[in-house]
Amino acid sequence: MKYISTRGGCSDYGFKQVLLTGLAPDGGLFVPEQLPQFSASDMESFKQLSYPELALKIISPFVADEIPEADLSRIIHESYADFDDPAVAPLTQLGEREWVLELFHGPTLAFKDFALQVLGRLLDYVLTENDQRVVILGATSGDTGSAALEGCRHSDRVDIFILHPHQRVSDVQRKQMTTVPGDNVFNLAVEGNFDDCQRIVKAAFADQSFLPDGRQLVAVNSINWARILMQIVYYFSAALRLGAPQQAVSFSVPTGNFGDIYAGYLAKHMGLPIERLVVATNKNDILHRFVSANDYSATELNKTYSPSMDILVSSNFERYLFDLFDRNPQTLSGFMSGVGSQSLSVSDEQWQRVREEFDSASVDDETTCQLIAEVFATNGELLDPHTAVGLKAARECLAGRPEPAITLATAHPAKFSDAITAAGLPTPELPAHLADLFDREERYTVVANELAAVTDYIRQHARR
Ligand SMILES: *Cc1c(COP(=O)(O)O)cnc(C)c1O
Repeated sequence: MKYISTRGGCSDYGFKQVLLTGLAPDGGLFVPEQLPQFSASDMESFKQLSYPELALKIISPFVADEIPEADLSRIIHESYADFDDPAVAPLTQLGEREWVLELFHGPTLAFKDFALQVLGRLLDYVLTENDQRVVILGATSGDTGSAALEGCRHSDRVDIFILHPHQRVSDVQRKQMTTVPGDNVFNLAVEGNFDDCQRIVKAAFADQSFLPDGRQLVAVNSINWARILMQIVYYFSAALRLGAPQQAVSFSVPTGNFGDIYAGYLAKHMGLPIERLVVATNKNDILHRFVSANDYSATELNKTYSPSMDILVSSNFERYLFDLFDRNPQTLSGFMSGVGSQSLSVSDEQWQRVREEFDSASVDDETTCQLIAEVFATNGELLDPHTAVGLKAARECLAGRPEPAITLATAHPAKFSDAITAAGLPTPELPAHLADLFDREERYTVVANELAAVTDYIRQHARR
């Protein structure tokens, strides 16, 4: 399997190279040259597999022969061993044709564990093979940071530095990052907002001369291909349990950077019978406006109860647009140069193709809280606000359809208790493995909102 960049400047990259590179050198994102296909009889044979066994089947063609199967299998099994549900990604039924796929049984209670548990181990494997050490640098508005720290902390080959905006993440989110043990783990609270953190990370990647001898930076943000790859698996897992390949299903996906739903799009194009894919957004609705009205113009950022979807520009959307533009890098670059402007759209013919592929909805905070209260009253299930956005969108877009509708439950409700309280419900309890979170010792350093403050810190603290 070879990988190419959406901007046309890189081809013939292998899986391991893509893993370590993150953003392609030409500024584009890596995508596979072509997608592996699974037939109905392949899928039939997957039905009795455990989650890690299924994951191995789905991702092997993408890794090709770059990692021996026995090693890949061990990495995957270790990654999901600590999940607190034997099914790893269990399904909960809410109505006759309505299901929720629980993706919050990993160590940090959000779906990002599915990818980052594997990514950390894959990095360690490849770095050991290369006898190489790297510095991981990332910015987080909440969930990515803790999942990345949990996924990478066991690797002696990495020093990981995560920036978060000082006093702008929830207490649970901060504690989940700053209580991770390990002398290769560093949390920096930047005196600025999330965009400032991202700007600093970008600048550090552009000029890495501050790093100790021979080190390079590695990105673990959602544009890393390996993260997308691991998310394809749970679409197959859920659909197979509800009757695929004979029975088709639909999915509704709470969307921020378009990573999670892009994985669903890939699953569909690998042969999984998915009827509809719903793009569920909160008030930050650029993707909903694009799907419903061919409007990709920029607006102001809104702060909502589902903060992991408070995003203005969805970085992974470029991967879908590349396909929409028939994989023409020039057309894509032209479109991308207009991102952020007051008016941006695609041709009518292209927009029709978007509408064949996706449905969409935008759900405001009030409706989100109402639905959390309603589902709790009806089913006794407590939804996190991101999941509630997804379920509301499913009910709007998929009502009356015959196939099972599966909403991705992207986080545990205890992680976002503000919305739960606003819905008039008691504060949810953290699961047992995090019950003492608030008693654990925190370690983090507050730094000025300046590139030099961060790069100086990294130079001083990256282990020799
Ligand atoms: C990251 C995140 C999302 C958005 O996922 P994308 O891949 O960025 O679309 C949704 N819900 C939760 C809880 C998240 O942490």
